[in-house]
Amino acid sequence: MYEDNLYLSNLYEYLEQPVPKRIGNLSSGPTPERGLEFEDVSFTYAGASQKALNGVNLQIKPGESLALVGENGSGKTTLIKLLTRLYEPTEGRILLDGLDLKEWDVEALRKRVGVIFQDFGRYQFTVGENIGAGDVRHIDDKQRWKKAATTGLAAPFIEDMPDGYETQLGRWFQGGRELSGGQWQKVALSRAFMRSDADILVLDEPTAAMDASSSEAEVFEHFRTASNNKMTILISHRFSTVRAAAQIIVIHQGKILERGNHESLLAEDGQYAHLFKLQARGYQ
Ligand code: ADP
Repeated sequence: MYEDNLYLSNLYEYLEQPVPKRIGNLSSGPTPERGLEFEDVSFTYAGASQKALNGVNLQIKPGESLALVGENGSGKTTLIKLLTRLYEPTEGRILLDGLDLKEWDVEALRKRVGVIFQDFGRYQFTVGENIGAGDVRHIDDKQRWKKAATTGLAAPFIEDMPDGYETQLGRWFQGGRELSGGQWQKVALSRAFMRSDADILVLDEPTAAMDASSSEAEVFEHFRTASNNKMTILISHRFSTVRAAAQIIVIHQGKILERGNHESLLAEDGQYAHLFKLQARGYQ
């Protein structure tokens, strides 16, 4: 009873979290062609002494892709958390379709965004439900599971398992099975593709746990076809995939250090060029 009680304390801790007041009630903006814009955005975590983001300006228009490059702790994930309105900027503003995120109805906003964070959820559900969780309105929709799993590259190994999409995952329930790190990642990737309404796709280190670089190339191939006319944001340490993005931004200690495309950044011969050459040498 004592041990089970500990789980209940998790529940109570969760229930005690403050629910932010819902502001904003609009579900569309005046100028969709402007896409997503950050205007002088700064952000400081509660209790932190330093800004996690400092005066960030950027724009991604529909159909464009952006890659964020920077060492750990430079603020890449924070930027994504602000974009999804998990946090609000301390200074500056973020606009989607020309409308401040604060004015957006948060449900309407979140429907527009599909994200996989590095620390994605590994649910003690069936593999199908693990994918379906990407869009809870369709959590049981087997057709959508399959479509998303195909795009997210999880379909082949799922279909190889005796119970297919009904396979129980995790060890909490009898007969549940564990997946490898790379397989879980493909499940998470497929989960992001459940959100077919989402036109902003964010991959935060999507392939860190995947095995070979060939599988990374494959993921991005799929990702790009699935993201026609969508806005894509990619965080990766692998320059072989970063270089394909139309716009590349190098962040350092919360500030934008360099921006451009692969060729212009190489020509600039700054931090990007330095890191790219270091990594390219590693592959030779
Ligand atoms: P990246 O994604 O580039 O690795 P993050 O955006 O996660 O970087 O972190 C940026 C900075 O903000 C780091 O200094 C990190 O320690 C800090 N930070 C991240 N999350 C939190 C948090 N929840 N509370 C306080 N500080 C945080």
